[in-house]
Amino acid sequence: DAVEISLKDIDQLAKSSFPLCMRHMLDKLRENHHLKHGGRMQFGLFLKGAGLKLEDALAFWRAEFSQKVGSERFDKEYAYSIRHNYGKEGKRTDYTPYSCQKIISATPGVGDHHGCPYRHFGDENLRAALNKMGVGGHALEEIMDKVKNRHYQLACTLTFEATHGVSCDSGINHPNQYFSESQKVLR
Ligand code: SF4
Repeated sequence: DAVEISLKDIDQLAKSSFPLCMRHMLDKLRENHHLKHGGRMQFGLFLKGAGLKLEDALAFWRAEFSQKVGSERFDKEYAYSIRHNYGKEGKRTDYTPYSCQKIISATPGVGDHHGCPYRHFGDENLRAALNKMGVGGHALEEIMDKVKNRHYQLACTLTFEATHGVSCDSGINHPNQYFSESQKVLR
């Protein structure tokens, strides 16, 4: 990956270039200082794919989780799985970030924040989240129409277009693709 993101840029990059699924998880992580397993996998692998190095990833998760569970428990119970995602533990598989298809077919339960907002949010929550991204009016109605017809990736593509002011001919099929297309436009 050409892009490399650093710890201090995450919030800024989330605002400018993360797809809604990943913005949502960052918001929840900042709010609760915790994410359940499904969220840690989906978000953690996305950040890795976006170019966050292992040391920064550990610092990032530790800063939040230690506020909730303490840094000792973080180091004992959570650091392993982060290193694991980077292929530094266990079978040393280098795990790849999840595609939209995989994320859309997830089944988040109560207290989970992973999944695809276009698929898993209720109507009102989705509208509010899109408003927060600055999407309203005709563009918002078009997005909601795609959602109604279960075209979640098209809804995400329209969101990309509305927030970046360019067309995305390839369509969105991966959160890391959304991120890199956005960086291409903004850089
Ligand atoms: Fe994330 Fe893909 Fe859903 Fe967009 S369509 S919010 S990138 S899972």
